[in-house]
Amino acid sequence: MEASIEMEPVAFAATETDIEKTFAKQKTYAPSLRISNAEQRIQKLKNLKAQLDQHKAEIYQACAADFGKPEAEVDLMEFFPVYAELNDAVRQLKKWMKPKRVATPLSMIGTSSFIQYEPKGTSLIISPWNYPVNLTFCPLISAIAAGCTAIVKPSEMTPNLSKVICSIIEASFPSEEVAAFEGGVEVSTELLAQPFDHIFFTGAPQIGKIVMTAAAKHLSSVTLELGGKSPVIVDDSADIKQAAKSILWGKFNNAGQTCIAPDYLFVHESIRDEFINNAKDIIAHYYGKTAEQQQSTVDFCRIVNTNHYRRVAGLLDDALDQGASLIAGGVKDEATRYVAPTLIDNVSSAADIMHEEIFGPILPIITYTDIDHVVDTINSKPKPLALYIFSKDKNNTQHILKTTTAGGTTVNGIMLHFSNFNLPFGGVNNSGIGSSHGFHGFKAFSHERAVVKNHFSLATMLYPPYKPRVKKMIKTTLKLFG
Ligand code: NAD
Repeated sequence: MEASIEMEPVAFAATETDIEKTFAKQKTYAPSLRISNAEQRIQKLKNLKAQLDQHKAEIYQACAADFGKPEAEVDLMEFFPVYAELNDAVRQLKKWMKPKRVATPLSMIGTSSFIQYEPKGTSLIISPWNYPVNLTFCPLISAIAAGCTAIVKPSEMTPNLSKVICSIIEASFPSEEVAAFEGGVEVSTELLAQPFDHIFFTGAPQIGKIVMTAAAKHLSSVTLELGGKSPVIVDDSADIKQAAKSILWGKFNNAGQTCIAPDYLFVHESIRDEFINNAKDIIAHYYGKTAEQQQSTVDFCRIVNTNHYRRVAGLLDDALDQGASLIAGGVKDEATRYVAPTLIDNVSSAADIMHEEIFGPILPIITYTDIDHVVDTINSKPKPLALYIFSKDKNNTQHILKTTTAGGTTVNGIMLHFSNFNLPFGGVNNSGIGSSHGFHGFKAFSHERAVVKNHFSLATMLYPPYKPRVKKMIKTTLKLFG
């Protein structure tokens, strides 16, 4: 495969005043969006869909230019989730917007209560480079569905995609409703200085902390979709071939640059050899038998830029220096930012690769005998975004689910919990705060307003002055309902 083009430093497409002016315009416009109905919002989503359709060819080209992403992976991991999210919002929005009645406790007889979903108002969406289309437009769809204005800042690391994303947004919306700014840290910092009502950030945990600190200044609410090390466990009851197929697809698609990619793997000692033999065959089947075939296949993506290439290559070198053994792959080429699909084992727990999110096509394999040691190791690290279990043993699966925590889990598969938009997608603490997708995404950009209608409440009978009769009624209320 040809090396994808080197990145040009991104020229800042926004000045401080541009950002302030756009924010001010959106703040003024937000109240008119607040009263928009489902049909109007659905029409906006349909306009966005039409623009996405029109820009499809440019998106394929930009993905190839930015990091050699194969068209099949663009279809599966960029377009498919966006269209699925958009079509679901179009289908469900009327239902989502309807006030939801809640039950009335006996003590509140004479009242009725409901939750009214109202748009939070102005929102900021900052997205990463690894799935730029998916992770920019999915939150934007939720923001539009909820009736918020939005300023979008895609990542400077994928400059060709950022350009296309900004053109799609410009063609779909007036800037008082949705605007986009290209740029890097300076633009992000200036945007974060504005008092947005909600900030939806997708990126690394350390940047998430910067975002949350900036949000705290204005008490803006946040959704933080972060990352971390997502473990996989393959126990001795698992379907080994199926596990290897799924794990390697999840690890090597997008060259491992996926927030919910399997980061490192625990395999039961009794099936270790069989798993590794299967894994080698599967790499050969997916990407080619020889190192040359693997390096030239168009089905394998490149590392996004030289800095990230050096980081990923450095993790591999450090692991090997500390005694890890190479099982497969290991070929690297800085000029084309290529790191082969790589499997390693005997990895020292002190190696950096066991502490940093790998975000590259290297899979450390750890052999285990006692599942509780596996659980302890996982629980000694920050809470993961995803945890995968391959097992046919219901008790073991349940034991792992009960004794660990993670943003989400797929049992006997990889990334499937991301694809069901009826599930909340998100992390926990270090891997994220809040959730997205479907109704959960709509709720992220909505305030759940608590409304009680008082019809004939008896509460007034408990008001002062606290004469003996009133006191007695308060005591009785406490006795009955307290
Ligand atoms: P990143 O955090 O470096 O960048 C994300 C965005 O933040 C970019 O738009 C960038 O310009 C901006 N940014 C960078 N530094 C900033 C700063 N100091 N202040 C303000 N904004 C700043 O992340 P990335 O490298 O683009 O993506 C990789 C990370 O994102 C990984 O950790 C991955 O796990 C995580 N991720 C999470 C999800 C999820 O859904 N949870 C999805 C994709 C990626």
